[in-house]
Amino acid sequence: MRIVRTVAELRDALAPRRAAGERVGFVPTMGALHEGHLSLIRAARAGSDVVVVSVFVNPTQFNDPADLAAYPRTEEADVALAASAGADLVFAPEPAELYPHGYATSVTVTGPVTESLEGAQRGRGHFDGVATVVTKLLLAVGPDAAWFGAKDAQQVVVVRRVVADLGLPVRIEVGPTVREPDGLAMSSRNVRLSPADRTRALALSRALRAVQAAVDCGADAAAARAAGLAELAADGIEPEYLVLADAGTLEPVESVDRRVLALVAARVGPVRLIDNVTVTPAAPTGAR
Ligand code: AMP
Repeated sequence: MRIVRTVAELRDALAPRRAAGERVGFVPTMGALHEGHLSLIRAARAGSDVVVVSVFVNPTQFNDPADLAAYPRTEEADVALAASAGADLVFAPEPAELYPHGYATSVTVTGPVTESLEGAQRGRGHFDGVATVVTKLLLAVGPDAAWFGAKDAQQVVVVRRVVADLGLPVRIEVGPTVREPDGLAMSSRNVRLSPADRTRALALSRALRAVQAAVDCGADAAAARAAGLAELAADGIEPEYLVLADAGTLEPVESVDRRVLALVAARVGPVRLIDNVTVTPAAPTGAR
């Protein structure tokens, strides 16, 4: 396991592997690694000959300086965890390595895919930051495949758009959301929840399950959304959004008649959390 800090070192380390015809797998992260990240690293390990994990808290995707300052940084533990899950190389650059003096270029994905949900709440700079850093990391690593988590569903849609539009030669793989045993989606931000807020945070996954339960009982999207909102309200949580949306376009839907996601974002105490699930249509009457 090696840690590299510069793009030049990274390319030097990978060149002989690539020349030998080895497949490079890549997992981009912001560190503070947990089981969600490790599941992606294991998947990359299973599907590649050499696995690169990046650990970079990308300043350009944070709309809130306090959130950036409070973001957990645990590099030593991250390196050990990444190695234990099968990483060969950790790429952990300083911001100046990716954003050189005079930096003036960014990647923007326009339209509803970046203007809704996280884009609406965090401002348009958020997905510019994500699209730019993912592009730069993919150019630096040059992987055959890169693994992303379904937990950040809108990010996956944006990354797929970037890869298609720029013709980047990489396969995008998506791993399922990993949850705590009680249902809370794992997130690097969970460590900032007080014990009381940690309990209240369960309302997010409960709300998403309530959406599915309502759909199972024949509810349309509006009624299913209301069921989810009621779960959140019971814990005094008013979400930034709770929507049922088309999984490909993220446009709101009126009924669950295709692949639909239920997505939620809410502040629990000082911590902003997001979660989503795939909602499946109710089984036809008689089949239940
Ligand atoms: P982050 O470090 O939060 O930027 O996340 C790095 C990658 O890990 C992204 O592709 C995330 O979607 C993914 N990820 C984060 N949390 C989870 C989770 N609970 N389950 C699966 N993947 C996750």
